[in-house]
Amino acid sequence: MEPALTPTSELEHLNQTFEAQRAAYRAQPVATYGQRKERLTALHRELLERKDQLAEAVDADFGGRSRHETLLAEVFIASQSLKQLRSHLREWMQPRQRPVSLVFQPATAQVVPQPLGLVGIISPWNYPVQLALVPIATALAAGNRVLLKPSEFTPNTAQALSELLGACLPSDVAAVTPGEVEVAVAFSQLPFDHLFFTGSTSVGRHIMRAAADNLTPVTLELGGKSPAIVHPRYPIATAAERIAAGKLFNAGQTCIAPDYALVPRGRLDEFVQAFGAAAKRMYPSFVDNPDYTAIINDRHRDRLQALLTDAEAKGAQVRPLDSSSEAAPNGKLPPSIVLGATEDMGILQDEIFGPLLPVMPYDALDDAIRYVNDHPRPLALYYFDHDQGRVDRVLAETTSGGVCVNDTLLHCAEENLPFGGVGPSGMGAYHGPEGFENLSHRKAVFQQSRINGAGLFAPPFGRLVDGALKFLLR
Ligand code: NAD
Repeated sequence: MEPALTPTSELEHLNQTFEAQRAAYRAQPVATYGQRKERLTALHRELLERKDQLAEAVDADFGGRSRHETLLAEVFIASQSLKQLRSHLREWMQPRQRPVSLVFQPATAQVVPQPLGLVGIISPWNYPVQLALVPIATALAAGNRVLLKPSEFTPNTAQALSELLGACLPSDVAAVTPGEVEVAVAFSQLPFDHLFFTGSTSVGRHIMRAAADNLTPVTLELGGKSPAIVHPRYPIATAAERIAAGKLFNAGQTCIAPDYALVPRGRLDEFVQAFGAAAKRMYPSFVDNPDYTAIINDRHRDRLQALLTDAEAKGAQVRPLDSSSEAAPNGKLPPSIVLGATEDMGILQDEIFGPLLPVMPYDALDDAIRYVNDHPRPLALYYFDHDQGRVDRVLAETTSGGVCVNDTLLHCAEENLPFGGVGPSGMGAYHGPEGFENLSHRKAVFQQSRINGAGLFAPPFGRLVDGALKFLLR
């Protein structure tokens, strides 16, 4: 294991690595199909070989993260992504022929995907492997070099990722620059060719401001409050079970976790009971259960506890699913349902990002749609209904990064769908072909033919051009 860097040496390390990667890019801007494929293959091999070390590192960072959650949501998702990128690489790298207007024929027109250069990636702590490796893999597939600034809250995973990359790729192709927030701030101010940020909406604003000084384009994968709407005709127990699964995975510390549930008025008790029963089936106990993940740190536990205290003080009912709604000494916070929440409570204002679920009644579907549209555009929306007409209506009348109908989270796990937010939940996307496109420059190439009519339109303008204009502007 390499010795830990001091804060000053972390900044020096950042600047040196950035300059070395830039110099390497200038010296060798082309990444062939063979090189890209080799990089993805090496990364995939190393990921699978080190899966247990990664799970241990994430567990240490969380002070208790389910090993299965890490293997499913981090290693499996990253592995799927690497496989998909590798299998489509040749096809996605191809220039795309475009039709040529009659007046310019017989020239040719193409869109040629080209690497952007050096991509900076800033990742959060909640899925510290997946949210670092999938952007890295996408950037490498598109032929870029990458520098990663992982979250300061997951130093063990940062070290494990640094060792993983170091074992399979030269540091001028991919490297990790660890450090506290000062390093992240300095990182966002560097003139990358693209900045790919995953994190909160508030920090996303800082990233975009810093990037603006360099006119660096950004992808912002942000957060927000993702609603789950249950239609009265849909089996309420099934909806409750799937919402519980999406909410309690990683103890709610998931950007696309259902944040709150909108349930038909008069069915709240039924929903709450079904949610509690489903939660108990998945987690017979919470605080001493290795399948139930801890809250990342004291700050976040205190924040969640304060949301409950604030809601209760303002008249909401907090229903813990365990004997208490307090965090245990081992950092695990049992889930709670919150009934009677109102807009003046923090729990309906801020992204919850933990195992607390406000359940709110609605009367008509119109009201539920209006509630969603009266709030910032969410990253995900969950709608439970078997009626395709109503599903289409909800899809048409609401705007969110993505939608999962009759389940939760899975639209993000499906590699063939783009993943990203809209408005305050983000901009740009990755996964699938959209990820490759997003981290490539799509260069327009017009190639003139040996024999062409361009000269006909050159000055001195005379009767020929007038005649041509008459024809063109008819
Ligand atoms: P965060 O915004 O606090 O931190 C994310 C990263 O930004 C960290 O690496 C941190 O070092 C860095 N950072 C912090 N302040 C910075 C600054 N001023 N300038 C530059 N960089 C800075 O987010 P978090 O707490 O790590 O993660 C939780 C948030 O991320 C939630 O809002 C969640 O919804 C969101 N999230 C979104 C996605 C997505 O794919 N859309 C995925 C996971 C998490």
